[in-house]
Amino acid sequence: ERMMEIRRQNCNPMTMKVTYYKKPVYIHQGHMQWLWDVDGRRYLDLFAGVATVSVGHCHPWKEHKNIWDQLWHTTNIYVYSPLHEYTEKLAATLPDPLKVIYLTNSGSEANDLAMLMARLHTGNFDVITLRGSYHGGSPHTMGLTSNAAYKYPVASGLGCHNTMCPDVFAGPWGGSNCRDSPIQTIRDCSCPQGSCTANDKYIGQLNEVFATSVPSRIAAFFAEPIMGVGGAVQYPKNFLKDTYKLVRERGGVCIADEVQTGFGRTGSHFWGFQGHDVIPDMVTMAKGIANGFPMGAVVTTPEVAASFAKGVHFNTFGGNPVACAIASSVLDEDGTQQISHNVGTYLLTELAKMRDKYEIIGDVRGKGLQIGVEMVKDKASRKPLPPAAMSEIFEDTKDMGVLIGKGGVYGQTFRIKPPMCITRDDADFFLAVFNQALHNYME
Ligand code: PMP
Repeated sequence: ERMMEIRRQNCNPMTMKVTYYKKPVYIHQGHMQWLWDVDGRRYLDLFAGVATVSVGHCHPWKEHKNIWDQLWHTTNIYVYSPLHEYTEKLAATLPDPLKVIYLTNSGSEANDLAMLMARLHTGNFDVITLRGSYHGGSPHTMGLTSNAAYKYPVASGLGCHNTMCPDVFAGPWGGSNCRDSPIQTIRDCSCPQGSCTANDKYIGQLNEVFATSVPSRIAAFFAEPIMGVGGAVQYPKNFLKDTYKLVRERGGVCIADEVQTGFGRTGSHFWGFQGHDVIPDMVTMAKGIANGFPMGAVVTTPEVAASFAKGVHFNTFGGNPVACAIASSVLDEDGTQQISHNVGTYLLTELAKMRDKYEIIGDVRGKGLQIGVEMVKDKASRKPLPPAAMSEIFEDTKDMGVLIGKGGVYGQTFRIKPPMCITRDDADFFLAVFNQALHNYME
């Protein structure tokens, strides 16, 4: 095991640290919602390679894929059926006029491309994103990403105004600000339904941004339907709808980053934006699109695509036949959205009970199988639980056989986004383990 660690450090010194750094997990193999380490220990995988293995590790349908014997690659300057068969199927999942698809290799590449298309289409340059957001790690998308931990200073000035965005995420919670928003958590809203005024506050801040910080014409607004890396942050009701209106009034296009929320993960809808009563001008996706096989996409309208068609754009691997075949099987998989809804709702309900029991659980939020558990020092101070304490609970949960994720601006939110094949028994197993880990920490 030590050898594996040394070899990894020597030849692949990723800037992203290995998670579980106290005692790394040496993954050997996976099947559906399970992973095994080199010693044969089994883990329930509730993080799915960061919400990527959407329908299960090494899904059995891989054996039925004759694509491996047929065609591994030929680039998209040729016509081959897996590409158009897949894009037709993907387009059918989206409402009109979102029907034109560009295939990429990652979420960052998809957002890069979306930003380019937005600028070409509008003739404007400035882009607005939300505080706490993560939209990628390429030099351009680093500008979209707001979380300082993922930015290199030289790359942050590319006309992307995330530091001046509406203050949706500031405050000691680093995430859940509107405690009373009807959609913030599954808890009952303490103010009467529909009377929450937080949205007016944020829209007011956005108007101030427009008035003081950015030119009157903008290129784009990017937002996830529910924040992922930011810690399952949800917005006040109508926030996206009202923001889209203001952005469009200033000539900008609205882009839904569905890299984490797409493909049924939010349970109630196939696409996260559908839960906000909006239709974006562009939707970007990756991660779960091909169950862990590298792939991404930008879907847009014929109108936006026409502006892009004035130039030439090419990427070698976009629309790789194997990726398309696997992505097609993801769309064919039955019941994933329903599982997200059923098991997700159950988990949210049970975790909310734990929040009431433990002083260090500040908030439980999310939708479907996009869940965040925000940890605090105590409920009164609402200060984030410090990294060392987070790590203790995180490692303990792993030692008892469950892998989860961490996120939030202060790393204070546990994230649960498993393959969408988990069962209620798996949820119970996790709840027992997590309960034990919290109990051990509090001792
Ligand atoms: N957008 C969101 C919402 C993401 O969560 C991520 C990755 N965490 C990306 C974009 C970037 O995707 P990738 O890592 O595939 O480039």
